[in-house]
Amino acid sequence: MLNVVIFGPPGSGKGTQSQKIIEKYGLTHISTGEILRKEINEGSELGKLAKSLIDNGQLIPDETITEILKKKLNTLRNSKGVIFDGFPRTYKQAVALKKILNKEGRDVNIMLNLEVDNNELIDRLLKRGQISGRSDDNLETIKKRIKVYEARTAPVIDFYKSEGTYRPIKGTGNIEDIFGRIADALDAIV
Ligand code: AMP
Repeated sequence: MLNVVIFGPPGSGKGTQSQKIIEKYGLTHISTGEILRKEINEGSELGKLAKSLIDNGQLIPDETITEILKKKLNTLRNSKGVIFDGFPRTYKQAVALKKILNKEGRDVNIMLNLEVDNNELIDRLLKRGQISGRSDDNLETIKKRIKVYEARTAPVIDFYKSEGTYRPIKGTGNIEDIFGRIADALDAIV
């Protein structure tokens, strides 16, 4: 089984590259952001909590999102592996993910960090906002998300460096070139 964490700031291309990884490697995609957006559309209690936090650029509490992830993992059967998109987003979540996977004799095999500078992130997210309709793709919320990324999410990098599974990937240029770099990193371990 291949367990991949796709990581990077908001707008770094995690969702886009996840789709390409799924096509080539047949992994199961778990996007915690997508799970939350579904809850919001359904108007559940969790959705209501998530909407207030997401629209404000804040993270969902670690315990809540980790429970959601655990439940989702439990529904998977006969998966060739998982691509974790948007989880872990804090150091605590990274430790929790390791614990969950270790219980099944598994672990994260590789963490791909898409590196893109802040100006390009803002440009990309504003453009995406015009077509995605995502309520968090506006300038004010984008700036908050990048700040939250730097303060709370970037420390996840240190966790995977110490695990020896960290791979930085240049996240700029065209989508195919970026995917080429990701495929090289994955082919080296499968
Ligand atoms: P994404 O679709 O990954 O950009 O996630 C959209 C938003 O959902 C984020 O800005 C957070 O508010 C929330 N979210 C998604 N995943 C997590 C997570 N692992 N921990 C906390 N909040 C999350």
